Amino acid sequence: MLLGITASRVGGHHPLKGCERCFADDEASRGWAYWHVEHQLPSTLVCTKHHCPLSIAWDPITPVHRRHWLLPRLNKLYTWTEIQVPSNAAMDCLLRLAADSERLMGLPPATLEPERLAKGYQRILRESGLATEHGNLRTVRLVSLIKNRYRGLEDLPGLAPLRAIGDQWPGLAASLSRRTPRSGHPLKHLLLIGAISDSLDQFIETCAPRPLSGRTYTPSLAEEVTTFNYLERFKELVSVHGKSVAAASHALGVSRTTGVQWAKRLKITYKSRGRPVPTKTVTKIRRLLMKGNSISSIAAASGVSMTTVYRIVGAHPEVSEKRRSDAFSSQRAAARRSFSATCGAMSDKALKAIRSRPGNSYMWLYRNDHQWLQDRLSQQGRVSSRSR
Ligand SMILES: [Zn+2]
Repeated sequence: MLLGITASRVGGHHPLKGCERCFADDEASRGWAYWHVEHQLPSTLVCTKHHCPLSIAWDPITPVHRRHWLLPRLNKLYTWTEIQVPSNAAMDCLLRLAADSERLMGLPPATLEPERLAKGYQRILRESGLATEHGNLRTVRLVSLIKNRYRGLEDLPGLAPLRAIGDQWPGLAASLSRRTPRSGHPLKHLLLIGAISDSLDQFIETCAPRPLSGRTYTPSLAEEVTTFNYLERFKELVSVHGKSVAAASHALGVSRTTGVQWAKRLKITYKSRGRPVPTKTVTKIRRLLMKGNSISSIAAASGVSMTTVYRIVGAHPEVSEKRRSDAFSSQRAAARRSFSATCGAMSDKALKAIRSRPGNSYMWLYRNDHQWLQDRLSQQGRVSSRSR
């Protein structure tokens, strides 16, 4: 919910899943079966250990009310339904998706920044002839490649986005590979990566920055993420080798902002080698940040880059906390207003009709401002409903 996933087109309904053979193994080795985290990923429908489909545990309680987690074999309420994998080719495709999902989940934080992903997409699309030298997508080829790969999988639980995306793959690929990429649900990334690359490692390798001449340290990214911890390496570069935060960040292929955040997290004292921002300007920027002005307008008004403003936000947790809570308050005020207005205009209509009105804010209030919503509904003599 915090990630906004419930509101995205991929949806937030993720029933618990499990592998019968893993449960049997668990019982033999530990005495009881447990839910495996890697099986719960929305893009994982098969067990990579046993090469068999997972089963879905349905229970009669709606997911939003299922706040408790029980062991898989203790709850007699579950009805198990095995996922129907239509063919061997589909099985191979789902195994790759499951393996990629596990691998992606295991990557250290900040391994794949959006800009870096976008560069990887651009390179791989060009190299495989799916985009021209100038980066224009060959849309017909791309759509037919993806459709062939995932044919027959659209009806599997959790893969409905395949149908929803349909012919919009070129648009999606374009938005994920733009110089300033849009954010995309991990499932969409995994589906696209699965269709255009040979393996996730190949893709990650493609995303790694190309070594510059004269660089002393150029890690292979795929090797990097499996063999040691980024933060440790970062600490070593700064504390032992005396690199600046900027140089260490560059060597590890992350942005300077990420490097500064790591340095803070690791409590490394470092000297900023960038052009120092005068204290007076920092004070002014902080004040504007506390007022809630946009980052771009603050950067323009203070004559500094947006990166500098973000850096100041990162350096002052109370500023980012205040901005978050202010943004939430104004979002809540807007949601309350639009819901009240919709109810006012449709006072003779059923709640269902109000909820089908675009921009009615019901779901947002349901998730974020539940008590207010309940009070408002009972004032109107209505009962809340959850069914979609
Ligand atoms: Zn298994």
